[in-house]
Amino acid sequence: MLKKVLIANRGEIAVRIVRACAEMGIRSVAIYTEPDRYGLHVKRADESYSLGDDPLAGYLDPARIVNLAVETGCDAIHPGYGFLSENANFARLCEQKGVAFIGPKSSVIHGMGDKTQARDSMRAAGIPITPGSEGNLDSLEEALKLANDIGYPVMLKATSGGGGRGIRRCDTPQELKVQYPRVISEATKAFGSAEVFMEKCIVNPRHIEVQILADSQGNAIHLFERDCSIQRRNQKLIEIAPSPQLTPEQRQYIGDLAVRAAKAVGYENAGTVEFLLSGNEVHFMEMNTRVQVEHTITEAITGVDIVREQLRIASGLPLSYRQEDIQYRGYALQFRINAEDPKNDFLPSFGRITHYYAPGGPGVRVDTAIYTGYEIPPYYDSMCLKLVVWALTWDEVIARGKRALDDMRLHGIKTTANYYQQILEHPDFRKGIFNTSFVPDHPELLNYSTKRHPSEIALALAATIAAHAGW
Ligand code: ADP
Ligand code: ADP
Ligand code: MG
Repeated sequence: MLKKVLIANRGEIAVRIVRACAEMGIRSVAIYTEPDRYGLHVKRADESYSLGDDPLAGYLDPARIVNLAVETGCDAIHPGYGFLSENANFARLCEQKGVAFIGPKSSVIHGMGDKTQARDSMRAAGIPITPGSEGNLDSLEEALKLANDIGYPVMLKATSGGGGRGIRRCDTPQELKVQYPRVISEATKAFGSAEVFMEKCIVNPRHIEVQILADSQGNAIHLFERDCSIQRRNQKLIEIAPSPQLTPEQRQYIGDLAVRAAKAVGYENAGTVEFLLSGNEVHFMEMNTRVQVEHTITEAITGVDIVREQLRIASGLPLSYRQEDIQYRGYALQFRINAEDPKNDFLPSFGRITHYYAPGGPGVRVDTAIYTGYEIPPYYDSMCLKLVVWALTWDEVIARGKRALDDMRLHGIKTTANYYQQILEHPDFRKGIFNTSFVPDHPELLNYSTKRHPSEIALALAATIAAHAGW
């Protein structure tokens, strides 16, 4: 079993990994850059090391991180999500230096991180993929011709894209002409690669993804699906497990498909295969070769600790479960509480948290790195808390979500919490019927009252007085 793990990440996911290490008797090492000096992951890890003043450079420096792991006697690195988690060079460097990378082999990360290469592998494995280009687009002329062949609307996508960026829908040749250079420029800026490809736009699809686990002995299983259709700008807001909109037959079909996909590429460790569903049609979209933000809801319905399994797999141990051992029970929802103002086009709202009171009670889990007095730095992701609720039935999980969102007090910044209350009230959501257009189709849900709770006004006043009095 691994003895000491360096966590190449920050925020809630770094804390999540520290927790798994602590429960398994594994020492944890945190890294941080100066704006994160007071971060919870630094306080909670067994050891921590500063990687300099720049807010980001330290977290994105493969050589420095791998060397630190070697110097501090770590036998593995957990990359979390974002940052270097899907960087094949980072994984390769770990392999070269004899530090276990907690994820698949670097060649698999490379193959899946390139979305056109991933489409090729899946096509070869007989997995249904979204219709679209074979390889990358070389010119606007090629894009126009292909769009004509597959039919509008089409999606232009960055080949190395992630986090919902570098994706544009085009409904006409005119739009395609405008968007083509834009996607190339966005891809170059965000991902350092100008490569783009095209997919048929699946209109009003559901985003259904399957959690898989695979060990170094060739065993692979799935932990059922998550429905991540509630999105804004191709980014997930509320995630649900299992999907309330799948038949048992569809569930089994898509689960088996994901396991086949993982086996086809020699996958190892935890991963997610993402699909778009339209009616009865299933299209492979991409594979994320890392732990996902929303792994929590799968943990809630199956009882499997996914990060623990990741650490066991990286130790060379076989999976703790066979497919037939995996059962699910009830429903779980995850709310990504973002430091954003939904009423202002989800603009980030960074700043000091003047008061935080965690929700609790039956079936409630909170994964976060914030605390009262914490200042959310403006350099990183705006997601500041994950609220996960579980209950036996769909109606109960909605009621529990409402109650837990009500329980929470998070003052000093604007968040998406009140907006989620509106979504939970919507009749279609309550019936369990929605697709990826739900958020843009319901702008009226943004018209909620922002009347502040009296306790919040009192606290804000106290904070202002304290600041002026120099307390
Ligand atoms: P998940 O698929 O786990 O739901 P997200 O798409 O929300 O993950 O991404 C999680 C984090 O990782 C976000 O901070 C996002 O910006 C970042 N991220 C994901 N993919 C990439 C990528 N290819 N390049 C850079 N950042 C990425
Ligand atoms: P990322 O790597 O940024 O997560 P994905 O390829 O997973 O990118 O796509 C993110 C989201 O964009 C999907 O969940 C879906 O809502 C939308 N999307 C992507 N491709 C298509 C498509 N071909 N048709 C319709 N929607 C799509
Ligand atoms: Mg995706």
